[in-house]
Amino acid sequence: REELARLLSEEVGDRAGDWDLAGAIPLETLRRLGGEGVLCAEVPAEFGGRGLSGLDNGELTAHAGTLCSSLRSVMTSQGMAAWTIQRFGTREQRSKELAALTRGDLAAVAFSEPQAGSDLSAIATTVVDDGDSVVLNGQKVWSTASGYADVLVVFGRYQDGAAAVLVPTRAPGVTVRPVPQPLGCRAAGHADVLLEDVRLPATRVLSGASVSLGLLTTIALTYGRLSVAWGCVGIIRACLGAAATHARDREQFGKPLAEHQLVARHLAEMYVAEQTATRLCEHASGCWDSRSAELSSASVLAKHAAAGHAAHAASAAVQILASAGSVDGGTVARAYRDAKLMQIIEGSEEICQLILAERALERVT
Ligand code: FAD
Repeated sequence: REELARLLSEEVGDRAGDWDLAGAIPLETLRRLGGEGVLCAEVPAEFGGRGLSGLDNGELTAHAGTLCSSLRSVMTSQGMAAWTIQRFGTREQRSKELAALTRGDLAAVAFSEPQAGSDLSAIATTVVDDGDSVVLNGQKVWSTASGYADVLVVFGRYQDGAAAVLVPTRAPGVTVRPVPQPLGCRAAGHADVLLEDVRLPATRVLSGASVSLGLLTTIALTYGRLSVAWGCVGIIRACLGAAATHARDREQFGKPLAEHQLVARHLAEMYVAEQTATRLCEHASGCWDSRSAELSSASVLAKHAAAGHAAHAASAAVQILASAGSVDGGTVARAYRDAKLMQIIEGSEEICQLILAERALERVT
């Protein structure tokens, strides 16, 4: 993990702000990191991956989040794609596709559609058998990293259930349209994807058979939630670092900002946020590593709490840096925009609250 974290630090350097302003990460950078297995570091060694535990992959993801949330978002997509392949692919699909993802190919995941946002049961994309082929039609929106991806994991209706299909972005009938000027994670390659009569070999359907849509999305989203939660820990750490340094070094009214109690309170709350989010993520990753039945709710809890803490911490950091933090592309300004989006993706605040409320009710029945 240390070696991979060092690699990330070297590749990002002080470029995250420039990538944010340009709205893109150089493709060579992503391919290099992908080729080192950093972007989906949990893939087992037998498939060419680094075989990190959930906990180590989580800390690596937090490190990426500290450096650059756009890059971390690409990492989340690649990891979620790899996990979906690992979980639903046949032995042959796993060997071939996971090896590609650890050699530098890039992947994205496409659930959302114009009419299927929080409610994924409304997915309308169709996957239809036609001899040895399948034909896909539909529209996907806001797919992170699709702007960079070689392959999309597309979720659609198939036979009497659903399937995830590996769709090359260069296949005829696939159109990838970048989302113009996203609020945050601007260099994460968000794109809408149009699928018009996309004909692929039936071997591109993961597992080769239909599964329940609910199972498919829950399993993929559990990885995504955990990854976003750790990414939020990274945002909080970056904000705490920037705010504490500034509060120590800048003086107003004859003493450092940190010695003004109202500023110190912000720092204390940011520290609480970092500790709380980290512990919840560690717990959820522990559930992942021990295959605990509690994993699904632990990942929702970690994501919900970490995203909320990240949004508050980023806001507090901008407050402490004040004019020094109000520059587009700067660490805390970026964090402020990026963190807000973490309260929307992989289950919005409200969707997480509904799931957690069910969990709370289960405890009294
Ligand atoms: P809606 O579902 O229309 O919700 C609007 C508001 O209503 C929200 O506040 C929501 O919480 C609330 N709401 C909805 N239903 C309920 C309810 N039952 N009770 C209470 N409140 C409710 N999608 C992908 O497939 N792949 C990706 O990689 C991906 N990356 C993304 C990255 C970013 C930065 C963003 C912004 C989105 C991304 N998405 C991706 C899409 C994302 O999953 C959806 O935006 C998200 O699920 C919310 O859907 P929506 O935007 O359509 O909002």
